[in-house]
Amino acid sequence: MVKCLRVNDMDFMTHEKRYRTLNETLKARFGKKVFKVSLNGHFTCPNKDGSKGVGGCIFCSPSGSGDFAGKVNDSLKMQYQKVKTQLLTKWPDAYTIGYFQANTNTYKDVATLQTLFEETLTLDSQMVGLAIATRCDALDKEKIALLSTLNKKTFLQVELGLQTIHEDTAKWMNRGHDLRCFDEAVSQLRNAGIDVVVHIINGFPQETSEMMINTVKHLNHLDIQGIKIHMLHIMKDTALGHLYEASPFPLLSLEAYVDIVVKQLEVLAPHIVVHRVTGDSPKDALIAPEWTLKKFVVMNEIDKKMRALNTHQGLYYQTR
Ligand code: SF4
Repeated sequence: MVKCLRVNDMDFMTHEKRYRTLNETLKARFGKKVFKVSLNGHFTCPNKDGSKGVGGCIFCSPSGSGDFAGKVNDSLKMQYQKVKTQLLTKWPDAYTIGYFQANTNTYKDVATLQTLFEETLTLDSQMVGLAIATRCDALDKEKIALLSTLNKKTFLQVELGLQTIHEDTAKWMNRGHDLRCFDEAVSQLRNAGIDVVVHIINGFPQETSEMMINTVKHLNHLDIQGIKIHMLHIMKDTALGHLYEASPFPLLSLEAYVDIVVKQLEVLAPHIVVHRVTGDSPKDALIAPEWTLKKFVVMNEIDKKMRALNTHQGLYYQTR
C-alpha cells in the first residue's frame, strides 16, 4: 500500500536537496549550525577482543572507524578543544554535539560510561547533545537505562552499525551478530525514547542493488530516526584490504553507487533524517574505490540525479 504523504513529511523539499538532511534538521531544531566533535573514549570492540568475535568486521580499520576522532592520549577536554577550534574558524557561532565514534562506545561498565558521558556534557556550554556509536550486542538493560537518563538531560542519538540485513553478507563480513539482535536493540532503545541512527553499507560484492534497497525497506519498519549510507571502502591494514589485494573483485562505480542511493532515498520513509549519503576515509589509508575521496562530487551527483528525475525521499515509500 502506498502511504499518503502529509505536507510535513515533505518539508525538506528544496530545489537543491531532495532529501531530509541532518544539517537542516539540526538547524531547525537548535536555531543555528550544529557540528559534531569526534571524541575518542578509548573503547575497544567485542567483535575484536574475542568476547563476541575476533578480527572485527572485515572492513574495519585499526582505529575502529575513528580516523577522524581525537587522539586517545589527549584528555577529553584537549580532544574537544582541538577539533572545536578548527571547526569554529568555519562556523564561529555554532553549537556542538560530542560524538563518540571510534569502536564500540558502550563497551565499558555502566559506572565508567556514566562518568565519561556526564563529563563530556560539562566540556562546553555550547554542547547541545551527544552521539554514541555502538553495536546491538553491547547494549543491555542497565546501559539502556543509563542512555535513557542521558536522553532526558540532552539531545541524544545512538548510532547502530547494521550495514546489511542479509545474513550471508553479515557472515562474510564477520559482523558477529544477526539481524534479530539488531532489531531487538532498536526496539529497546525506542521503548526508552532514544533516537536511533543506523549505518548501512552499499557495494558488498555479493549484493545486488535490490538487496541494498531491501535493507532500507527493512529499516522503514523499525521506527528509526536517522540513517547513514556509506560505500564499501577498501582500506589498508584491514582484512578486506588484504583479501582485495590478493584477489580483487568488482566494486561499484560512482554512477552505479549514485543510482542505488537515489533508489534507496526514494523508498526511505520521509521522516527519517539522512545523516550521510557517502563516507570519508583518509586518502593514504584508502585502497579503493578512489572516487569515494571526492565526497562533494558524490553528494552533488546524487543531488543532480534526483533533480533530473524530479524525485525525492519517500516518493516510493510504502507501508507493509
Ligand atoms: S562493530 Fe564497529 S568497531 Fe567493531 S569491528 Fe565492526 S566496524 Fe569495527
